[in-house]
Amino acid sequence: MTKEAKPDIKSLQLGDLEKVARDLGEPSYRARQIADWLYQKRVQSFDEMTDLPRQFRARLTELVDFSKSDLVRVLGSRDTTRKFLFRLSDESLIETVLIPASPALYGSRSDRRTICLSTQVGCAYGCKFCASGLEGFSRNLSPNEIVDQVIATEQESGEKIDNIVCMGMGEPLANLDNVLRALRIINAPWGLGIGARHITISTSGLAPQIRQLAGEKLQIRLAVSLHGATDDVRNQIMPINRRYNLETLLAACDYYARHKKQRLTFEYILIANVNDSSDQARRLGRIARRLDAKVNLIPYNTVHGLPWSRPTTEQQEQFLSILRASGVAATLRREKGHDIDAACGQLRLQTKRQLQNTGP
Ligand code: SAH
Ligand code: SF4
Repeated sequence: MTKEAKPDIKSLQLGDLEKVARDLGEPSYRARQIADWLYQKRVQSFDEMTDLPRQFRARLTELVDFSKSDLVRVLGSRDTTRKFLFRLSDESLIETVLIPASPALYGSRSDRRTICLSTQVGCAYGCKFCASGLEGFSRNLSPNEIVDQVIATEQESGEKIDNIVCMGMGEPLANLDNVLRALRIINAPWGLGIGARHITISTSGLAPQIRQLAGEKLQIRLAVSLHGATDDVRNQIMPINRRYNLETLLAACDYYARHKKQRLTFEYILIANVNDSSDQARRLGRIARRLDAKVNLIPYNTVHGLPWSRPTTEQQEQFLSILRASGVAATLRREKGHDIDAACGQLRLQTKRQLQNTGP
């Protein structure tokens, strides 16, 4: 371990912690003591780990970072969707959304509290409808910055989180290594202990990484943001489709589903006059049946400065009924967070603009 590449304590797996202990001449059971302080007792410094020898704590402080995220703003209240805006050690802003128990969200039972995690600062994929893509990409989040969103949100809300979705800012499969490191900590019995089946990654369609993820042991769920049932429609709103077209994407999805013996979920935002026609509904039905996938319809959340809007309720219901008539398991999410700008990236964008307007 060199001084230049200082790791953060909450990015390390149990095996890494054991190595750190051994390298510093301590028995490897120190690793479990550290994990217990981090993920059960939730301390914020090495100094608070009082059953570790003082000398060992001093060496840890020298060699390993212990960063934390600062809460900048909270929007929403108990019983509704709440958004947390965090400032990272380099001043970057990221947001995390806490969604109260709601029926049938990503296959979970209705008593689950879901957290929506960001995986990058900004996003490079530039989907036309998305606030996160508007200002481009800044950087990947490190594993500890992803893990900390869960810890800090539990601390701020006083609630125990038991369902995780990587659907906040960023494209998780473009930061796959760090995301997997974080999810292993979130999943591990020595970490946060959240079951892999209660962890979902959402992707806009990075076909090669979907295949890579299929080779991972972790039994996490995959949701694919389809938002269009033809190349024509996807090309209009998702630049990624020009790199991996629908057939390439669906082949990767099929590979994943077979390999993992898992049912995928397709997410489909309904945007008025863009992807909400009966023809798209029928085609989406055929795709979902072919892959035996579920479909989550999400009415579009308006983003300030973008021209898109959601279809009428009748139009949404009609789209849903066409899907159901074709034998697909489909749900229509009646957005809980619409009133607090719940779609990904929006709180950050709004706060950044306010800071720019009021700044020096
Ligand atoms: N980059 C990944 C995960 C983050 S986005 C992905 O695209 O899947 C998570 C989900 O929020 C995606 O399905 C995305 O399309 C959707 N989303 C983005 N902007 C939205 C908006 N304004 N209203 C509703 N859903 C939105
Ligand atoms: Fe990025 Fe997902 Fe937003 Fe597309 S929808 S710009 S991939 S965060």
